[in-house]
Amino acid sequence: MNKSFPLTGYSSLAIHSSGKNNADYSHITPIYATSTFTFDTAEQGSERFASPDKTRIYGRWGNPTFTVAEETIAALEAFGISDENGQPLKLKALLHASGQAAMCTLFFSTMQAGDEVLSHFSLYGGTHEVLNRVLNDAGMKTHIIDMRDLSIVEEALQKNPKIKLVHIETPANPTVQCVDIEAVTLLAKKYGKLVSADNTFATPYLQQPFRYGVDFVFHSTTKFLNGHGTAIGGVLLGKDLALMGSKVWKWHVLLGGNSNPFDAFLLTQGMKTLELRMERHCHNAMEVANYLASHPAIEKVNYTGLPDHPDYAVAMKQMRHPGALMSFEVKGGLEAGRKFVDALQMCVRAVSLGTLDTLVSHPATMSHMSIAREERLKYGITDGLIRLSVGIENIADILNDFEQAFQQI
Ligand SMILES: *Cc1c(COP(=O)(O)O)cnc(C)c1O
Repeated sequence: MNKSFPLTGYSSLAIHSSGKNNADYSHITPIYATSTFTFDTAEQGSERFASPDKTRIYGRWGNPTFTVAEETIAALEAFGISDENGQPLKLKALLHASGQAAMCTLFFSTMQAGDEVLSHFSLYGGTHEVLNRVLNDAGMKTHIIDMRDLSIVEEALQKNPKIKLVHIETPANPTVQCVDIEAVTLLAKKYGKLVSADNTFATPYLQQPFRYGVDFVFHSTTKFLNGHGTAIGGVLLGKDLALMGSKVWKWHVLLGGNSNPFDAFLLTQGMKTLELRMERHCHNAMEVANYLASHPAIEKVNYTGLPDHPDYAVAMKQMRHPGALMSFEVKGGLEAGRKFVDALQMCVRAVSLGTLDTLVSHPATMSHMSIAREERLKYGITDGLIRLSVGIENIADILNDFEQAFQQI
């Protein structure tokens, strides 16, 4: 395919955006299982070191299998977005060993001791702990507020001039709270701050934070981007290409959070069907939410596609569909919730999300076990709350499984 041939569709980009990366005419880019790369001559070695493309030097610095995954994610996050000059937005992506590694590269390459971060109170557990423990020990400080109230955001920005970075995660686990990316980014930019967004739950198919002027996006690729539950991974994307190619790249390489060729290959295969999968995930999720919302055994459903969710309007504004994550409370609290989870036949009991199968977990005794009860109740994580990542099975089987489980409570 000629590089200048314009691809207009999302799946076409997901499948073709990254050209061919091998000299042997293999159809699919191979798993380059190699720790280092050879030079024909000393001069060629020195040229590669001097070049901005660091993929063929040493495996921690880059690998052609990583490049395919990175170029694909960059194309998907930039899909249909123009830069200030009206040109297609260019992004640089760096593949990491995990979402946590990508987030640590972001925090450490953009901040130093004395700097402060502003973030929302409903955050992924690992992010919460990096902010409050790792960064705190490294001399940085975190302000956690309710970012859904813009006056609180502005007040925090006014009062704390040392804030360097505003970090958004939307939608967030497990009550699927949403933050208005455009409004928060506008405020952050008014005060000259950097803005980052964790786009893991939404994926670049449902939501593109760069559309609203954020500086960085990261993903746990472990979830919907890989989509099949076969590998842990993460990616950090930025629009300041010079910064991404210098300090951010350097910190990534020095912190040693590189991916590996096999996981990068699995991720690349998964991303090719992102659009197809997300359409089905979201279609199923809406059906499940409607079923739960009218079920007599259910106390409450948290899903951004239901108009009674407090962040319904924000989700509708910035997401293509309301996503595949939801949570609900069974009448009868903890005991009833446990019975329901144990009675499921097809749906799978597991943490994580974004896999082909429907995953069910119980935050109070699993993912949020280490958070004090009063604290988690403030976030809406009640004893009986059940978290669902709706899969792409046939909807009748998901609903049948739920119905037989409810009858056993
Ligand atoms: C899973 C997850 C992470 C961490 O990613 P890992 O791949 O597990 O390191 C960060 N943010 C969100 C929203 C996640 O769901």
